[in-house]
Amino acid sequence: MAPMIKGTAFITGGASGIGKSTAIAFAQNGISALALVDLDASLLEATRDEIRAQFPLVTVETFAVNVADEASVDAVITKVVDQFGGIEIGINCAGISGTPTPTHLMSLVEWQKVIDVNQTGVWLCQRALIRQMLKQETRGVREGRGVIVNVSSMFGVGGPPGPFSIPHYTAAKHAVVGVTKMDAKAYAREGIRINAICPGFVDTPIIGEQIKSGAMNPQFEMTPIGRPAHVEEISDALLFLSSPMSSYMCGAALVVDGGILFR
Ligand code: NAD
Repeated sequence: MAPMIKGTAFITGGASGIGKSTAIAFAQNGISALALVDLDASLLEATRDEIRAQFPLVTVETFAVNVADEASVDAVITKVVDQFGGIEIGINCAGISGTPTPTHLMSLVEWQKVIDVNQTGVWLCQRALIRQMLKQETRGVREGRGVIVNVSSMFGVGGPPGPFSIPHYTAAKHAVVGVTKMDAKAYAREGIRINAICPGFVDTPIIGEQIKSGAMNPQFEMTPIGRPAHVEEISDALLFLSSPMSSYMCGAALVVDGGILFR
């Protein structure tokens, strides 16, 4: 079978959870090189070693970078391009949850921290990826010059039932959908395809403690499928959005939520 995806993938948040699972899905489906970017250097190394051991034919390099820092983001794109010659797929997945706090009790510092990583971090990486992809040759009608997938959330298009106090996270994830749609339209004719994914609850370290303690059981009860997503159920959707199988999708915010938004 022909590989689903080719070339080099740049994945932020690549050390853990959805980013790591996406790296593995890419390795299983034909990618040549993975550039894993994350704030957590030691977790990055462990993930790199695990993927290298499983997929010896795939080149895996790691870059300890804060996606909210403009100079570091621009520098890492240059390093990856120097090493691999280009970037065919960019996955902007790095994110933080932020402490649940109602607006009247939230400090500007708390707000800004989540906005910096989840919103500005995605835009900085998207900008650097677009600048790079514009320099690349198109690879055909379905492949184009490159593909970008941004990881938003169900909180980026609405939200599950119940009182949630994460205004910073919700605002940032809506913004991710916004810059996805705007830039998707702006760069589609340049051969750069941009989409977002909006997962529901996913069993990853970001909410691992709450899942273990049972604190999220009421949310899972409200989810038609009755459980959080296994991480592979999200990375498979990212694989689809990154591959030529989704070549006519542009500016989509693909909801993968076990049905919770549509009760
Ligand atoms: P995770 O905690 O397993 O992974 C997030 C990764 O991002 C971590 O490795 C972390 O070190 C990295 N990171 C955090 N801040 C960073 C920064 N400033 N620079 C670089 N890397 C940074 O969690 P996950 O569930 O895999 O989350 C991935 C994305 O999915 C996030 O954007 C999150 O908001 C989104 N998401 C998660 C869920 C869920 O229920 N797990 C649901 C919807 C959306």
